[in-house]
Amino acid sequence: MNFIDIIESYCNTNKIAHIYKNSNLTYRELKTKSDSLAVNIIELFGKDKTPIIVFGHKDHLMLISFLACVKSGHAYIPVDSSTPSTRLKDILFTSGAKLIINISDNLIDIPADTILNKNEIEKNVLQYKNKIPNISYRIKGEEVYYIIYTSGSTGKPKGVQITQNCIQSFIDWSMDLIDKKDKIFMNQAPFSFDLSVMDTYLSLVSGSILYSIDKEMIANLLELFINFKSSGITTWVSTPSFAEMCLQSEQFNEKLLPELRQLLFCGETLSKECVKKLLERFPKIKIINFYGPTEATVAVTAIEIKQEMLLSKESLPVGYVKKDCEIIIEENTNEILIVGDSVSIGYFADPILTKKTFFKREISDVEKRGYRTGDTGYIDNGLLYYEGRIDNQIKLNGYRVEIEDIENNIKKLPFIKNAVVVPIKEKNKIKYLATVVVLNDKFEGNIIILVKNSLKNLLPSYMIPRKVKVIEALPINRNGKIDRKKIMEEF
Ligand code: AMP
Repeated sequence: MNFIDIIESYCNTNKIAHIYKNSNLTYRELKTKSDSLAVNIIELFGKDKTPIIVFGHKDHLMLISFLACVKSGHAYIPVDSSTPSTRLKDILFTSGAKLIINISDNLIDIPADTILNKNEIEKNVLQYKNKIPNISYRIKGEEVYYIIYTSGSTGKPKGVQITQNCIQSFIDWSMDLIDKKDKIFMNQAPFSFDLSVMDTYLSLVSGSILYSIDKEMIANLLELFINFKSSGITTWVSTPSFAEMCLQSEQFNEKLLPELRQLLFCGETLSKECVKKLLERFPKIKIINFYGPTEATVAVTAIEIKQEMLLSKESLPVGYVKKDCEIIIEENTNEILIVGDSVSIGYFADPILTKKTFFKREISDVEKRGYRTGDTGYIDNGLLYYEGRIDNQIKLNGYRVEIEDIENNIKKLPFIKNAVVVPIKEKNKIKYLATVVVLNDKFEGNIIILVKNSLKNLLPSYMIPRKVKVIEALPINRNGKIDRKKIMEEF
């Protein structure tokens, strides 16, 4: 059964689908409001299929809009409201979106064809009450269901296109791995990150409650824990970084989340120390480590982490591959290649970049899509182990960042001649980013504040280097390349 039909099958009861800031959205409201908004979109754009940007954070209207887009025949592009307008503009132009559904509290000052603001959407939903979109419009099969924009080394984000078949396959596979008795899923990741696809769709398809926490709560541990206490969360979905942040407080234990039964991790290395601490604080939980890039629909391997794995000398495995995919470890480089039905059809409107990392490969006489992850690893007894990266892509507090993305944006500043960004590690984990800059001319004033403030208009805040140092010239190593090691020693 199509997963949207499953989600809608819960609408005849008063079941709650989403909780955000003490406000409930029922499955019935999710269906009727997304139907109304879909009819509204069909009236505006007819059979036009251009993607739609959904701009906001954790409001109920985000989920309503996602479903409205796909019911009216449009892929949705979730963009978090923390994204600066220059970056939103880049996404608007590269995607060719004609409509921005603006669920943030701010007006958007960029030249989109149509912008529907929050209050208008609410009005339109009322105006189109009880209207149902014709099913023939709905996104299906190999049509693109969502496009997630992720950091790109050119300095502009790249749009990963995920089809309805890809997400259906992810849901079918992951539903079998988790405890289905669970009733309340935590949503921590913004909807613009594909980790949120895991909590959102597993929760909705299993008829559970999606419990969203937002960036303000995350910035204030006390407030976050007050929310946790009353949440009843049974399934935790996050990057390991977020759990590590919570573990810093002794209060993060079974008493705070007494219903918690399973933790699903993805997006970064899950360390043994983190698992050990979690099992001490929550002795009854089950932990699953998922692995995969956005380009292969959230995750393609998974494994339940058992106590005995903590005793092995190896790092924790990232899992067994799902049935409709294959993992190939490339000879010489050890790069992890993913082949199969989960792989994206490529980057939106970027055939050159798509050709660079995506490929086709025959498996049992059938041509499948493949993706070069840029990750390195090995397979032992059918289990995949992740080792590292072959490029300058990093994970910082769970966020995927291409170092060159930041450098290219710093170089856009008129007073900067050159810039190199380096990750600063503590105990093998990246703690923050730092940059050295070479200036065009002598500069009066506080260059560090100026760089940081100027970058706020260009980059999301997690990409802005914490430390900035002005140097005369970039150091070069014996091979004639920029000496990044030496630059790291500056900090
Ligand atoms: P994203 O597209 O944001 O999901 O990031 C994908 C990248 O995160 C992968 O290519 C890996 O480098 C990293 N990653 C994802 N899952 C894991 C994991 N379980 N362990 C280690 N690294 C991971």
